[in-house]
Amino acid sequence: MSAPISQKHPKGLYVLFFAEMWERFSYYGMRAILLLFLIDNVRGGMGLNAAEGAAIYGLYTASVYLLTLPGGWMADNVLGQKKAIWYGGIIIMLGHIILAVPGGTGIFFLGLVTVALGTGLLKPNISSIVGELYPEGGARRDAAFSIFYMGINLGSVLGITIVGYLGQKINWHIGFGAAAIGMLLGLVVFKLGSAKYLRGFGDVPPAKISTPESAQQTKSNTTLGYGLIVLLIGFLSVLQWTGTIDMTTATGLAQGAGVIIVSVSSFYFLFILVAGGLTPVEKKRVFVLIVFFLAAALFWSGFEQAGSSLQIFAERHTQRSIGTWEMPSSWFQNFNGSFILIFAPVMASLWIFLSSKGLNPSTPVKFALALILLGIGFFVMEMAAKEAVTGSLVSPLFLTFTYLFHTIGELCLSPVGLSSYTKLAPKRYVSQLMGIWFVAASLGNLIAGLFAGNFDENNVQQMPALFNQVTLFSIGFGLLLLVFWKPVKNWMGGIQ
Ligand code: GLN
Repeated sequence: MSAPISQKHPKGLYVLFFAEMWERFSYYGMRAILLLFLIDNVRGGMGLNAAEGAAIYGLYTASVYLLTLPGGWMADNVLGQKKAIWYGGIIIMLGHIILAVPGGTGIFFLGLVTVALGTGLLKPNISSIVGELYPEGGARRDAAFSIFYMGINLGSVLGITIVGYLGQKINWHIGFGAAAIGMLLGLVVFKLGSAKYLRGFGDVPPAKISTPESAQQTKSNTTLGYGLIVLLIGFLSVLQWTGTIDMTTATGLAQGAGVIIVSVSSFYFLFILVAGGLTPVEKKRVFVLIVFFLAAALFWSGFEQAGSSLQIFAERHTQRSIGTWEMPSSWFQNFNGSFILIFAPVMASLWIFLSSKGLNPSTPVKFALALILLGIGFFVMEMAAKEAVTGSLVSPLFLTFTYLFHTIGELCLSPVGLSSYTKLAPKRYVSQLMGIWFVAASLGNLIAGLFAGNFDENNVQQMPALFNQVTLFSIGFGLLLLVFWKPVKNWMGGIQ
């Protein structure tokens, strides 16, 4: 992501920019009020306790990213990317329309599942068409992804502002309805724009133009996939049967999802290392990808608390009044997107400047920095929580600084991680490993939800210790990575 972003880009990029902007408007807008709606028992919310609400929040956000695996597969094998985006968008919109109906628990969960399925279909495929617009790769592709990342965050800021306001100040379901309208606008942009500016991209599923060897590969992968599903069902049944996990509760279900995510990713890495036919150099690179996977999962597990524990903290313990007006607590989630819009160009210039001096930090160092910044952000929260446990509302500056540290961390990890996954992955595994990158986000989101389950109203005294745990974990892992950055870099085998 270190290229200047002023070169001329194909108009198709802007079609994808605005389509993704509206999709993220609906995703982040709805997510901003989701947990508040789940635990509200005054304004027509679901009235769940914090543990159940946070488990559902974690399950939902984790599913969104986990479903990018079948979503990518559907596009590659059945639909082609363009149709996957189109149908995905329609399904997302329907999901938000269902959520907009004040119809009780069953209807609500149907809406959530629908949005998650649609997002799994849309999200990975819209990013891969961005890549396809630049077959030569290189700096222009990096620049295109920077522009696209701005679209993501512009959508998130608009969504949180509008959906958050309507949901918190007027009515939850009107908020969800606004998310549906956002997705509708995204569909209109995509339909009109793609017919004109994306002709010839993402029309044919790549598997339909595959070679006999790749068809054979897909067949054996599918068999393996089915085998893994059977094994997992067996394993989960044993866990349920022995009472280790109770999957009839929301928390148990989220723990079950954690078992699935950890098993799928460990199995996948093991599979390509043992049976993937890799050269020794490729094997070393896959080890690096495992290190990056762990670091990313840990990073997202703290970072994605934006919508869980940090949201609860904003709502219950943060001073939000300006005169007689009270800011909706969900608006704090806007600090991330706004800081991205301000700092993404600054960070891009910083990397270019450091490169020109031969000082550009290597990818493992950037990952380590991201984890340390995350930890510093949570240290600020620990300070805030120490004040909050005395019963007073704390200054909004605490959350502001936490989000500032977290956003700079995100800029060290997210775009860099995305591109290093495409570069380090053995050629024939690129799209699968792209999926695994999103699985790290899925695992992080799940942990972010489960962790926030401890933030119950009856458990307020625990808050400083809880934030302290995240600080120690992330700074610890970050320092470990900083100590071992040289061997990790060497294992990258010359890839920057
Ligand atoms: N904020 C980015 C997006 O919504 C990245 C999220 C992630 O990979 N966890 O696309």
